Amino acid sequence: KNIKKYFPIHKGLLNRTVGQVKAVDDVTLSIRKGETFGLVGESGCGKSTFGRVLLRLQSATGGEVLFKGQDIHSLGTKELRKLREEMQIIFQDPFGSLNPRFLVKDIIGEPLRIHRKMSPREVEARVVELMELVGLDASRRNRYPHEFSGGQRQRIGIARAIALNPQFIVADEAVSALDVSVQSQVINLLMKLQKELGLTFLFIAHGLNIVRHISDRVGVMYLGKLVEVAETEELFALPLHPYTAALLSAIPKPTPRRKQDRIVLQGDVPSPANPPSGCRFHTRCPIAQDRCRQQEPLLEEALPGRSVACHFPLLPPQQ
Ligand code: SF4
Ligand code: MG
Repeated sequence: KNIKKYFPIHKGLLNRTVGQVKAVDDVTLSIRKGETFGLVGESGCGKSTFGRVLLRLQSATGGEVLFKGQDIHSLGTKELRKLREEMQIIFQDPFGSLNPRFLVKDIIGEPLRIHRKMSPREVEARVVELMELVGLDASRRNRYPHEFSGGQRQRIGIARAIALNPQFIVADEAVSALDVSVQSQVINLLMKLQKELGLTFLFIAHGLNIVRHISDRVGVMYLGKLVEVAETEELFALPLHPYTAALLSAIPKPTPRRKQDRIVLQGDVPSPANPPSGCRFHTRCPIAQDRCRQQEPLLEEALPGRSVACHFPLLPPQQ
């Protein structure tokens, strides 16, 4: 609820604070138990920061993160430890996120040793089980990460993330570094695990095409703001925000589109340290008007179950 994460900007020899980057600026969102919520936007829009704040890997500047009704930013050390078992993250880089000097069985088994105080034998048995669950050959558990391909390493990261039976997982660009063919294998694995283990996912990606297959609902972020939320198929069929339409029109599609879908973005994303007035998208929006430069649009329901932050959403013509 109303999540804000601001980073101070320091300058000069005295390291004075000269401003702040509003990486996440007042985002309210509910993720339903058992769903996959896809969160998309260009680099620097705040989606990773948002994911990290949800897990309390970073503290919020403002707002509340409610997990099963409890504000996780008010938890003490002991409760936080318990929370760490229930919420996990899968990182983008399957190369950088695995310690190269650890055997795979130790990487996957680490959370079990730390949180469950299992004996080495129990850890090993659970590691074998986890490796099989994510489609890895468990007989290779005594090897090092560099002996595995990118897709296999991502499976190792996934096995470690699910080791403690978490309920909520943030997958931060979990497939972005992989080849397209491997991407769909890993996405299929995540969907299988979700079904079998009853997981809830926040699936972060920069492109809409990656989230389409896996997500029940999708949220689009732009410069620290959530600008649209919808059921996945509805969003693809009818984007209401001009930015969503622009992201969609960047995906090659064989069938002809509606005229309003053909939006090409002009210019770069403005700096989050100095976002444009009013609607932050107005500097790049092809249909911006005076009101957009002055008044900030709020995320509001424009159609049943569809929220959009735009003064002039791309609604279908009235019957
Ligand atoms: Fe474009 Fe205005 Fe809507 Fe912002 S509020 S997306 S500038 S039409
Ligand atoms: Mg990121």
